[in-house]
Amino acid sequence: MEETKLLQTLKEYFGYESFRPLQERIISSVFQVKDNLVIMPTGGGKSICYQLPALLLPQLTLVISPLIALMKDQVDGLKTNGVSAAFLNSSQTEKQQQEIFKQIQQNELKLLYLAPESLSFVDNLLSPEKISLIAIDEAHCISSWGHDFRPAYTQLGYLKKRYPATPLMALTATADKATRHDICRQLNIPNAEKHIASFDRKNLNLEVRPGIKRLEQIKNFVSEREDQNGIIYCLSRKATEEVAAKLKKEGITAEAYHAGMKSEERISVQDSFINDEIQVVCATIAFGMGIDKSNIRWVIHYNMPKNIEGYYQEIGRAGRDGLPSDTMLFHSYADVIQLQRFAENSGNSEVQLAKLERMKQYAESLTCRRKILLNYFGEPKTEDCGNCDICRNPPTFFDGTLPAQKALSCIFRLKEKAALTAVIDVLRGAQNENVLSQGYQNVKTYGAGRDIPWRNWQDYIIQLINLGYIEIAFHRENSLQLTPAAKKVLFEGEKVQLAKTPEKTEVKTTAQKITTSGLFEKLRELRLKISREEGIPAYLIFNDATLKEMEKSRPETDEEFLQVNGVGRQKMQDYGYQFLKEIREFIHSKKPKKKKKSKGDTLKLSLELYNDGLTPEEIARERELALSTVFSHLFKLYDKGETIDFSRFIDKNDVEAVKKARIKLDNPTALKPYFEYFEEAIDYNIIRGALAIIEKEEKVL
Ligand code: ADP
Ligand code: ZN
Repeated sequence: MEETKLLQTLKEYFGYESFRPLQERIISSVFQVKDNLVIMPTGGGKSICYQLPALLLPQLTLVISPLIALMKDQVDGLKTNGVSAAFLNSSQTEKQQQEIFKQIQQNELKLLYLAPESLSFVDNLLSPEKISLIAIDEAHCISSWGHDFRPAYTQLGYLKKRYPATPLMALTATADKATRHDICRQLNIPNAEKHIASFDRKNLNLEVRPGIKRLEQIKNFVSEREDQNGIIYCLSRKATEEVAAKLKKEGITAEAYHAGMKSEERISVQDSFINDEIQVVCATIAFGMGIDKSNIRWVIHYNMPKNIEGYYQEIGRAGRDGLPSDTMLFHSYADVIQLQRFAENSGNSEVQLAKLERMKQYAESLTCRRKILLNYFGEPKTEDCGNCDICRNPPTFFDGTLPAQKALSCIFRLKEKAALTAVIDVLRGAQNENVLSQGYQNVKTYGAGRDIPWRNWQDYIIQLINLGYIEIAFHRENSLQLTPAAKKVLFEGEKVQLAKTPEKTEVKTTAQKITTSGLFEKLRELRLKISREEGIPAYLIFNDATLKEMEKSRPETDEEFLQVNGVGRQKMQDYGYQFLKEIREFIHSKKPKKKKKSKGDTLKLSLELYNDGLTPEEIARERELALSTVFSHLFKLYDKGETIDFSRFIDKNDVEAVKKARIKLDNPTALKPYFEYFEEAIDYNIIRGALAIIEKEEKVL
C-alpha cells in the first residue's frame, strides 16, 4: 500500500496529519499479510494500527476485545468518523444481534468487535474468505503470566488454524517478556513481526509524595484543578468511599467505584465520568481497562500499586491525548507491609514479592523516576527526564551519621521489637498511648531526635533500610531489625550520607501550563452539549488536544477547520458548522470573558480596600471571603510586583523572629520550616508577610 494513500485515509477518517511512531510500519506489515505483535503503552495509539487497514482491506476486520463496556465506545467513535462498525456481545438483545448478523451477511461492516465468548455464535457467518484481518486487543489476557488473565482468551489459539491466510495482530501494553512470548505461542503466530514502541510517555509528570495527610493533600491537589478530570486509585473499597466523601464535602463532584457496588451503579459512575459530568472517580483497580477517555488530566495513587506494570498502566490512563498531565503516588510503609502480606499469600509469591520490591524502589528512588520506569520496561535511558519530582528537585545529601546513629541505637534499645512508627515516636519523645503503655519513655534514646520532624525521620529510616542498615521483619509484626552493617555505624565510625527530605512546597502544577484564553472552555461546553444530545462520550467528538488546536489556530473557514489535527471528513460535516460558529462568536465578542476578568478584579479589589486602610480581617468581612483568600490576593499581587506595605498588620517582633530563623534554617525559602521552627505559634500568613518585609529591606540596603 502506498504511503500517500495511507496518509490520505488517516486524515480523511481520523483527522490526523501524520502517524505516530511505528503505526505506519505496523500497517504496512498487515498489507504484506504478516502477523504482528504490537506492544505500545496505554495511549500510544494502538487502535489506528488495525482500524486504518480495516478501511482499506476488502473484507471484514474482526476485533477481539475483553471489555464489553469499551466496545460500544470504540464503535461509537468509529461511527462519528464515518466508519461502519458494530459490536456483538452478551449485553445485546436477540433482535439487535440479528440485525448485526444481517449486516455481516450483506458485507456492510468494515469492523466487527467481539468478546471471545461470542465468537462461536457467528462462526458460521465468518468463513475464512470473508475475514481480511483479525486484531486481538489486550492480548496479554491470554497469558496467566500477565496481570489480567482471562480464561476465555485461551481458546483464541484456534483462530490461526481456522483463518490461516488472514493476518493476525495481537496488541497489548504489557511489556513483560515472558508474557510477550506466551502470547505468540498461544496464538500460534511464532513468526509474528514484533513492534515495540517506546514506553516513554513524556507528557506525564511523575511525582511521589509521602503518604501523610493524604486526604488533605488530595483535596488541595483537586481544588487546584477545576475542570480537570482525574482518577484516584485506592487499594480498598473503604478508602474509595472515604476519599469520595471527603471531596464531595469540598464541593467537588466525586464518586466511588469498586467491585462491591451494583453493576448499574458502576455503569452510571463510569458513564458520568466519561461524559465529563463528574470530575473525579475514586476507584479500586476494578475501574480500569474500560476507560478509553482521552482527556483524563491526572491520576493519583492513594495507595501503592502491587507492581510497576499495574502502576504504569494506571498512570497511562492520564493524558492519552498527549497534553501535559499529572500523576502522583502516595508512598506509605503501611501500604508496603500490607502488599507484602498479599504477595506472600498469593500463588507465585516469589515473583509477586520481587515485583513489589521493584515498585518500592521506584517510590523511594533518589534518581530520575522515568529512568527507573523505562529501564524496567527494557528501555535504558541515560538522560534525566526533567518531568519528574526528582529531576525538578534533585536531592541534596548531607552527613547523616548522627541521625543514623540515633535511629539505629533507638532500634537497638527497643530490643528490635518496635515497628517504624513506634521507633519514630520514641525518637521524637511522643507521649501517646502506644509509647506510654509499653514503657518506652524510659528507653535511653527517648526524645533524642526531637529536633527532627516526623516526616524527616520516616524518610531517613526508609533510606537506612534501602542502604542496608535496617531490615523489616515482616513475620515479627514488622519490627525493625539491625543488620550486621549497622554495627559499623554504631561502633566503628562508619559515615552515612542521607538525602535531605524535600520540603513540602507545593509542586508547580502542569495544570497551570494549560490554562487558556477561554475559547477552550467554550469549545468544551459545546462538545458537552453535543455529546448529551447524541448520547456519546464527549471525548469521542473531539479530544482535548484537538480543541486546544482549534483554540490556537482559530479556524474561520471549512478548509481551515479541516486542517486542524483531529478533524476528519465526517466530523467536519457533522460538527464543523457549530464549532466554527462558536469560534467566530468568540473572536468577535468584544468583551473579554467574564470569569477571567472578575478574577483579576477580585485581587485588585482586595488591594484597593487594603490601601483604603482596611485590615485583612476587615476586608474579609466586607467582601465575605475567607481571611486566607484575602491574604492570598495580597501575596499574589505582591509577587506580581505590586508595592504592598505588609508592616501594617505584622508585629515588629514577629519580623525579627523570622529574620533570626531565616539564618538558622536549611531551607529558608519555604514556609513550612519556619512554621515548624516556631512550633506553629506564628501563622503562615504572618511568616509570609514578614519575609516580604525582610526581602524589601534587603533590596533597599
Ligand atoms: P491505546 O489503545 O494504545 O491506548 P488509542 O488507540 O486509544 O491508544 O490512542 C490514544 C489517543 O491518541 C487517541 O485519542 C487517538 O485518537 C490518538 N491518536 C492515535 N494515533 C494518532 C495520530 N497518528 N496522531 C494523533 N493522534 C493520534
Ligand atoms: Zn526525571
